[in-house]
Amino acid sequence: MKKHNFSAGPCVLPQEVMKKASEAIINFNGLDLSLIEISHRSKDVVEVMETARSLALELLGLEGKGYKALFLQGGASLEFLMAAYNLLEKKAAYLNTGTWSSKAIKEAKMLGEIVEVASSKDANFNYIPKGYSIPEDADYFHCTSNNTIFGTQIKDFPKTNIPMVCDMSSDIFSRQLDFSNFDLIYAGAQKNMGPAGTTLVVVKEDILGKVSRPIPSMLDYRTHIDKDSMFNTPPVFAIYVSMLTLQWLKDLGGIPAIEKINEQKASLVYTEVDRNPLFKGFAAVEDRSSMNATFNLTDESHKETFDALWKEAGINGLNGHRSVGGYRASMYNALSVESAQVLVDVMQELERKAG
Ligand SMILES: *Cc1c(COP(=O)(O)O)cnc(C)c1O
Repeated sequence: MKKHNFSAGPCVLPQEVMKKASEAIINFNGLDLSLIEISHRSKDVVEVMETARSLALELLGLEGKGYKALFLQGGASLEFLMAAYNLLEKKAAYLNTGTWSSKAIKEAKMLGEIVEVASSKDANFNYIPKGYSIPEDADYFHCTSNNTIFGTQIKDFPKTNIPMVCDMSSDIFSRQLDFSNFDLIYAGAQKNMGPAGTTLVVVKEDILGKVSRPIPSMLDYRTHIDKDSMFNTPPVFAIYVSMLTLQWLKDLGGIPAIEKINEQKASLVYTEVDRNPLFKGFAAVEDRSSMNATFNLTDESHKETFDALWKEAGINGLNGHRSVGGYRASMYNALSVESAQVLVDVMQELERKAG
């Protein structure tokens, strides 16, 4: 039986997507050829790319609003640099909410002055800072919507007149937001959209072309827009699986439908974390992520028993990140409500055994 996969990334994907993807490896579209052995310029592959790009914009509600969707390589980690390369002339403002924000800041610092508008480092990033101000003379404001490692999530995004850049790697397509408030969104596929190997970049075209530095071709969003994400050989398989996952999401009813399911899973797990005296949550309650629930045992002596229980129940990937410890239940779009319930059952079983 398939495990209950709470892995933080690469993560669980829908079973029907896995099945279609494995069929395409053997015989793609009835061509008697594999998806991964034909030209990326062939009609069938160009169609995959176009469908993936338009599904992304459609699901985000950004069609016809001046945005382009790109499927690039280098992960969200390359976007830390690429965003700055394309947008940073003098000064940019960054909100520091964790490991990934810190890495984004480090890369951007190579290209200009970075103002850290607020940071939650003082409390090991267990909350989202609020009430900070964003300098209006900065070229852009950058934030991380969901902090995968610490289990915090921005619920209210700040209002600003300068362009908003957001790393949405671990919660894109998981909840309804007005995505048109953002000018550049990027997300590594492997958290909520597909396998590792491609990064979705959604960029509002009118923010480009404003920096004076020469931009190397591969780092220039304009290059990839002009070549429809085919400037060089794209990671065809990763984009195909992402396309299938986006199609799955659309058929399910899109973001509004998956948001309800995600809220149901998060509510199940957090209710138990709060109720069960053997567990305590890591993140500040009002900032808790609906994607990654971080929690610890109140008494470490139960660790061995708990670890054995969840492994026996067929749960995978529950260990917390080394910088937080404890446990992290990642509940991305394709994780079922049943899997979340299995985790809750195991937590209750521990309580019975310990009591
Ligand atoms: C995983 C993750 C990254 C890094 O993504 P890569 O694709 O491995 O470079 C960046 N930001 C967030 C929020 C993440 O969860």
